[in-house]
Amino acid sequence: MDIAALNSTKSLRKNVLRWMSLCFGFLSVLFAIFNLTVNNFPLLGYIEICFSIYCILTYISLIHRPLQFWQAVVMCILITLIVVLGTALASPRNGVFVWAFALPILYYLLLGKQYGVVLSASLLAIQMYILGTKSNLSPFETFNLSLNLLCTYVSIWAISHVFEGSRSHFSKRLKNLALLDPLTGAGNRLSMSHYFEVELRDKSQLYVLLLDLDYFKLINDEHGHGVGDKVLVEVATLLRIALGRGYVFRVGGEEFALFSSFTSDEHALNTAEKIRAQVEDTRFDIDGLSINVTISIGAAKFRSTNTLEDFVEQADKQLYKAKRFGRNKVYCKFKVEPEIEAASI
Ligand code: GH3
Ligand code: MG
Ligand code: MG
Repeated sequence: MDIAALNSTKSLRKNVLRWMSLCFGFLSVLFAIFNLTVNNFPLLGYIEICFSIYCILTYISLIHRPLQFWQAVVMCILITLIVVLGTALASPRNGVFVWAFALPILYYLLLGKQYGVVLSASLLAIQMYILGTKSNLSPFETFNLSLNLLCTYVSIWAISHVFEGSRSHFSKRLKNLALLDPLTGAGNRLSMSHYFEVELRDKSQLYVLLLDLDYFKLINDEHGHGVGDKVLVEVATLLRIALGRGYVFRVGGEEFALFSSFTSDEHALNTAEKIRAQVEDTRFDIDGLSINVTISIGAAKFRSTNTLEDFVEQADKQLYKAKRFGRNKVYCKFKVEPEIEAASI
């Protein structure tokens, strides 16, 4: 499964920034030569040379490394500075200010909606102030031209806003469709791999509590599949609340895996025991029925050599024991040497 495909926003931003760096890197050299020789704006020319070097370095770094958010921020700030400086130094007749029309698109594509609003509004205010205070207003003496330019900027801004809003909304919906179990809203197996392999940075104190509902088939048999489904939804909600910090994944029909970091083995065991007791003490009110279930839990601690499969497998072995030795129990084996096995209840 291509987990990276789930991060479409990051890939999009990385691609935009990469190709934009290359494009602006070359354009900036051309402008720098022009400003240093013909226009006689040495300050702007030198800034453009520095900018083009920065662009090429950014392009090279993005070939091998993932995009860092600060890179997008710095790029937007630098381009804005150059456009604003160019507008302030050059006569409006040169048309440098026209570059400002491209910037809202860039802000939204690289930084998203919130930054897009703030930066587009700020740029508009700054550009209007600079152009408004110019001694030679030409070609802005005509009210119509100024109004048309203003409307064009606002239209580009509005389209960028709507586009980025819809894009990120659908990207989130697709991600949820791919990663969440539609019945319980808990993460699915793919989501568990994504979390373990991509998102989780520090696994040193990571524990998994693998749990399975006891005799769940009887609930389906007695009350029907619909009631069984609702019990699963209620249990998933209870697990999310009881676990607090951590993630709940539905890894099988009535099996859940809880991932969390704990300060010690005892802390992990106490939490598992608390969750087990909480499920046992809860009566779910479903379709006028008062339903009680119990769960068995197998717990394991992450070891540096573990793959996700090994890690869950350790917990599965403990879960198997919990089932074999009576159900409604917590079993764990946290250390290899000396062996500590604990069973609660
Ligand atoms: P044990 O204590 O050994 O785990 O007994 P059990 O009855 O829970 O285990 P078993 O594996 O025999 O049965 C699991 C049951 O879970 C069978 C299946 O009907 C039910 N189940 C699995 N997925 C769903 C689901 O999405 N909805 C409902 N309602 N039931 C499900
Ligand atoms: Mg079961
Ligand atoms: Mg099962």
